[in-house]
Amino acid sequence: MKLGIVGLPNVGKSTLFNAITQAGAESANYPFCTIEPNVGVVAVPDDRLKFLTDLYQSEKTIPAAIEFYDIAGLVRGASKGEGLGNKFLSHIREVASILQVVRCFEDSNITHVEGSVNPLRDIETINLELVFSDLEMVEKRLQKSEKLVKGDKSLLAEVDLLKKIHSTLEEGLSARSLEYDEKELEILKTFNLLSMKPIIYIANVAEHEVSNEGADNPYVQQLRGFAKTEGAEVVVICAKIEAEISELEEEEKAMFLEELGLSQSGLDRLVQASYSLLGLISYLTAGPKEVRAWTIKNGTKAPQAAGKIHSDFERGFIRAEIVAFDDLVNCGTYAAAKEKGLVRLEGKEYVVQDGDVILFRFNV
Ligand code: GDP
Repeated sequence: MKLGIVGLPNVGKSTLFNAITQAGAESANYPFCTIEPNVGVVAVPDDRLKFLTDLYQSEKTIPAAIEFYDIAGLVRGASKGEGLGNKFLSHIREVASILQVVRCFEDSNITHVEGSVNPLRDIETINLELVFSDLEMVEKRLQKSEKLVKGDKSLLAEVDLLKKIHSTLEEGLSARSLEYDEKELEILKTFNLLSMKPIIYIANVAEHEVSNEGADNPYVQQLRGFAKTEGAEVVVICAKIEAEISELEEEEKAMFLEELGLSQSGLDRLVQASYSLLGLISYLTAGPKEVRAWTIKNGTKAPQAAGKIHSDFERGFIRAEIVAFDDLVNCGTYAAAKEKGLVRLEGKEYVVQDGDVILFRFNV
């Protein structure tokens, strides 16, 4: 799962990204992740893994992970090829969701590219570049579809949708600010619009503001108000503090967070917000060799969930032996859960739930 970090220069992107790579999960555990200089892999915090590791005396514990991409280089005019322009935009096309870092801290020593701190203007600057890029794409597609629809009426829905999006983009608004029915959403997937990507705004606040989530910071209030109009989320962090936290050992980290009056690091909150934004859940596999969390989309059926482990598991899927994590905790052991009939056999149509502890049966 890839998330792209964007934002204007000097808002704190690199500071946050350094915190991410410092805190980063050991890449050796994640052979499926492409490790490049601009990619950071972060473990998804999950207390359930510790219980399972103790229960099975497992040799290895592998949390679910999220990949963060540092997509630097966005400036005003990117969609017209300024700066890294188009290269930057093509990177955004590849991510599942966008994390936009927004400067909400005042610091006269750190120049702002636009001369002053102003989150709404900064967001507009970035979002407009995405909107312009989409506008170009939508116009091209509309031209083509309007020609083709004369001979192929099945394209009518697409033409209507393109027109609807076009007028919104022309107003400078993101495609995600519109509402769509299911059929439209199906068509939309094929467009891969940048301004349709789910977004989290990261309010980067000053060190002393982080303990109450920037409640007294007017910039954060403005940001929250704007995010609401898009149905987007806001996560308040202090990138500088995150960078400090990421250098600490687990125990020191807990103490430091307590001193700050926080129960979780900003990074952990960010990972969780990303997880819920993308509609993700984790199922678990457990044994003496390894305890592991696997990321799936909410609504995934058992064979496809098995396919996350290996494509053979999906192809040869027979059934899944499942116990809900809470049932396992209440019973104490797998055997006890089985005795109580809480280990279920589920077939191809079963929709996997968050926290299902699963053993897949399959043919090779
Ligand atoms: P980028 O250009 O968006 O990658 O921004 P940087 O991460 O390089 O940050 C620009 C400057 O702002 C650096 O000098 C950082 O130390 C500083 N900075 C970043 N986050 C914070 C913060 O939360 N508070 C303060 N006071 N300074 C910060």
